[in-house]
Amino acid sequence: MPERGLLIVFSGPSGVGKGTVRQEIFSTPDHKFEYSVSMTTRPQRPGEVDGVDYFFRTREEFEELIRQGQMLEYAEYVGNYYGTPLTYVNETLDKGIDVFLEIEVQGAIQVKQKVPDGVFVFLTPPDLEELEDRLVGRGTDSQEVIARRIERAREEIALMREYDYAVVNDEVPLAAERVKRIIEAEHFRVERVIGRYDKMIAKTSASK
Ligand code: 5GP
Repeated sequence: MPERGLLIVFSGPSGVGKGTVRQEIFSTPDHKFEYSVSMTTRPQRPGEVDGVDYFFRTREEFEELIRQGQMLEYAEYVGNYYGTPLTYVNETLDKGIDVFLEIEVQGAIQVKQKVPDGVFVFLTPPDLEELEDRLVGRGTDSQEVIARRIERAREEIALMREYDYAVVNDEVPLAAERVKRIIEAEHFRVERVIGRYDKMIAKTSASK
């Protein structure tokens, strides 16, 4: 059986540019992990494709999947559900392939409780003013939604200490490169590697 893949949880406050950095990470062929497409009840934006950007579902459908225990994590964010379907994640990790989640902070905290050996990366804004500008500048949301997103971002930044890494999103290609390097280095952590040598270590100590 292959060694289980690594669960990479990429998160951070709304508007920090998680989606853009994630796209940059996946735009080059030098990554070996797979993206887990999330499910949401929010309306599809122009240009978004069902099954590629999100699985777009009704509230009833989403709540049924929660009841059936089919979500690894989920959160209600600005009036809509967002969540990670469990089966895809488990099947991919079982094949020995790393899985990359891009999710908001509440969901990431749930994953940390369930999968403590995941890699938790928090994308930070260079400063709060710039974050507010980006939330306003996106132009896709109403004033009320923007205000709620800014309030939420403040609460989310305080949760940075729950993560393993904080990556500043000053420039998208740089941030993407940092995330890729973190993932690469994580594979070399002794606790992830030592299992392969356990038998040999046990034999050596028994023969002493
Ligand atoms: P948007 O509506 O802008 O696409 O996403 C809103 C927020 O939901 C973003 O912070 C995004 O990272 C987060 N999000 C996307 N997919 C998931 C998911 O599966 N679970 C959770 N908890 N958050 C998600």
